[in-house]
Amino acid sequence: MRDPNKAQRLVDGGKVRKVMDTQNRTHFSVEGDTDTHSVIYDKRKAEWTCDCRYSALTNRECSHIAAAKIKG
Ligand SMILES: [Zn+2]
Repeated sequence: MRDPNKAQRLVDGGKVRKVMDTQNRTHFSVEGDTDTHSVIYDKRKAEWTCDCRYSALTNRECSHIAAAKIKG
């Protein structure tokens, strides 16, 4: 992760919201610097995904996913 404190800052700043929690997945909305991103936790696969470019390009955990994990 580029900035390990960014995720905590997102949570502290109230940028992370749990939008939906179903049997199979949890959907978070994370307000980033320029866009709001959708972070989804697939409970069956135990997999996190985010729609931001960093996540798509690097296939690594972005700050939005990290923030959603903190938020739980
Ligand atoms: Zn992301």
